[in-house]
Amino acid sequence: MNTSFKIAAAASVLGLWLLADISRAAEPLTVVTTTPTLKSLVEAVGGDKVKVASIGAGDEDPHFIQAKPSFMVLARKADLWVRVGMELEIGYEGLILDGSRNGKIRVGQPGHLDVSEKVIKLEVPTGKVTRDMGDVHPLGNPHYWLDPLNGRIMAREIADRLAQLDPNDAAAFAQNYKAFEKALDERMFGPELVATLGGDKLWALQLRHQLLPYLDESKLRGKLGGWQAAMLPLAGQSIITQHKSWGYFTNRFGLSVAGELEPKPGIPPTAAHLAETIELIKRNGIKVILLEPFYERKAADNVRQKTGAKVVVCASAVGGQKEATDYLALMDLIVNKLSDALGAPAARATASQATLR
Ligand SMILES: [Zn+2]
Repeated sequence: MNTSFKIAAAASVLGLWLLADISRAAEPLTVVTTTPTLKSLVEAVGGDKVKVASIGAGDEDPHFIQAKPSFMVLARKADLWVRVGMELEIGYEGLILDGSRNGKIRVGQPGHLDVSEKVIKLEVPTGKVTRDMGDVHPLGNPHYWLDPLNGRIMAREIADRLAQLDPNDAAAFAQNYKAFEKALDERMFGPELVATLGGDKLWALQLRHQLLPYLDESKLRGKLGGWQAAMLPLAGQSIITQHKSWGYFTNRFGLSVAGELEPKPGIPPTAAHLAETIELIKRNGIKVILLEPFYERKAADNVRQKTGAKVVVCASAVGGQKEATDYLALMDLIVNKLSDALGAPAARATASQATLR
């Protein structure tokens, strides 16, 4: 073999390597999430650099998902597994991960992301959790994605992990995250206020319960829009929910949950507990019973007949109802349904204007 031929051969091998490398880099990451809400967030920050599938559907109870063999097949090909954590998936995740035989996505590996790590948590038990407390999660209430501030934190966690797994596309993930963050902040506070003060400052004020005093002082109250403006007239109201899944949302907007139709988390309503709930509603003039579409309406309707409270069926996950097409649309839906039911028609208009802009 002469020298020039050797060089040519080496160059062509090198060329093939380069080509192989480029095609590998261009291939999107395969991501599997446990819930469709997580899938929506991965799509928002991953864009065309990811291919995402969700184990659970929006109209399914996320506590009870069957560990089907098809999910193990799906997980086998995943570069990244994303879960809600806080034991929400405790009934099925282990079986799917074991069945997948995919070492990349085992707990503790870079291909396994638990997005609960940095979120704001509620109802973290201080004492010992026992069986007779019902389905109480010892790490706290896992329905945290319904706080839009947590949605923001979750999206950032996802963007960071995607960048770690696919450093070539890190800039794209950071850019997508920024766009999502801006969209979420504008939906929350209205675009004008975000342009004036910036999202970070608005959230910091919101967290310290100083948003309204600050806006009044700086004569910016009139610029407040979005979910925050729509929910403002409802602050201080109490609602009843089927399951302990709405506390993160009500807490963020200054509402409260007076009680649940379930006597304990995950335990179906009993006659005795419903009788107590009826008394509670009458005593406090509570106007709304809120539940997800996957629950039976029977108990809620029974309470409605005896109290006159409205039953509001609303998705708590992306895909749970047709309007909940992505994370931001899910929040729009919850804000609009509660505004309608709790009687603040003017506020609703403000929210949809902010959305249209
Ligand atoms: Zn739950």
